[in-house]
Amino acid sequence: MPVPISQAWTVASYVLKQKIQGRKQYPLVLMLEPLYKCNLACAGCGKIQYPAHVLKQELSPEECFKAVDECGAPMVSIPGGEPLMHSEIEKIVEGLVARKKYIYLCTNALLLKEKLHLFKPSKYLTFSVHIDGQKEHHDFSVCREGGFELAIEGVREALKQGFRVTTNTTLFDGADPNSVRAFFDEMMALGVEGMMLSPGYSYDKAPDQKHFLGRARTRRLFRAILSNRKPTWRFNQSMLFLEFLMGKRDFRCTPWGMPTYSIFGWQKPCYLLQDGYADTFHELMTTTEWDNFGTESGNPKCANCMVHSGYEASGVDYTFGSLKGLFAAAKATLFTRNDDEEAYRMLNEPVRPVHSYNPLVQIESPSNNLEETRA
Ligand code: SF4
Repeated sequence: MPVPISQAWTVASYVLKQKIQGRKQYPLVLMLEPLYKCNLACAGCGKIQYPAHVLKQELSPEECFKAVDECGAPMVSIPGGEPLMHSEIEKIVEGLVARKKYIYLCTNALLLKEKLHLFKPSKYLTFSVHIDGQKEHHDFSVCREGGFELAIEGVREALKQGFRVTTNTTLFDGADPNSVRAFFDEMMALGVEGMMLSPGYSYDKAPDQKHFLGRARTRRLFRAILSNRKPTWRFNQSMLFLEFLMGKRDFRCTPWGMPTYSIFGWQKPCYLLQDGYADTFHELMTTTEWDNFGTESGNPKCANCMVHSGYEASGVDYTFGSLKGLFAAAKATLFTRNDDEEAYRMLNEPVRPVHSYNPLVQIESPSNNLEETRA
């Protein structure tokens, strides 16, 4: 089971209700970005390039609750920026737990250990820790030496105190499949509840434009990584989305499945693109030209996209859309091994991880000074 039964039941009954009501476009996870400020400046990130006056702004807890109530999704993901740098993050979490929302607080965990006392363990709260792979790869990816150790220290402490902890990993070109598989072993040994994966998206604001994956390369990479799976690996996401990444099935993008709310309002059409903003969730849903987005639309910005914020909700929607979908999801959950001789051969292909020939560059951002953020 990728998530605890109570969460699976909440999500399943919510989706079935939407189906019974004949609602074709419904939100599954609200991406709530209460700030853009971060204590890292990752090369693949498009969020921390905003000017200083934007990075200083925060959504208030009341603004967050209004967005959550308007949207109605059963799950709320809190990315950013780094949410643990929000001055009232504990109030936001408390209010969402009171609303019985399943929260994924996405953190790089640099501040996790020292901020844990602000939170209480709850089945509704999961720390989704951003770790992009084994030590060398992660430090390179987040442009911070020692970032991996700090994140692991935070994970250990959170687990010790009884919190739900998952990892979220974004893979870019140059990822070494064998190293990613070894990373899965490390995370399982650490005791995290499950892992989430996504390919990166080529943000035009990201400083590193060289290492984004095209669709064919994405499928090849995930096929090598996720075939011949070890029984110990647990993934905290739709198994059909993983099959999509491996090239075993195709989905259309459902950008309304994970709508984004930030200091600018409701972002059109998805977490990745900024085609304007709406003032209300209703306005977002009714005024966005959804047909202009998704790979099939021919929109060049969507051409190579396979990210979880566009396609994971598609997997969940497919699961509950027919008996065929339910059967496919049950099969993918129960029979996880995915035997594939060709994928074994791919693991023996030589790889040149980006960190083996590129120096680690620590990019300065207005807010990447830890001492400053602790003040
Ligand atoms: S394909 Fe990707 S970029 Fe395009 S709308 Fe969907 S999630 Fe957004």
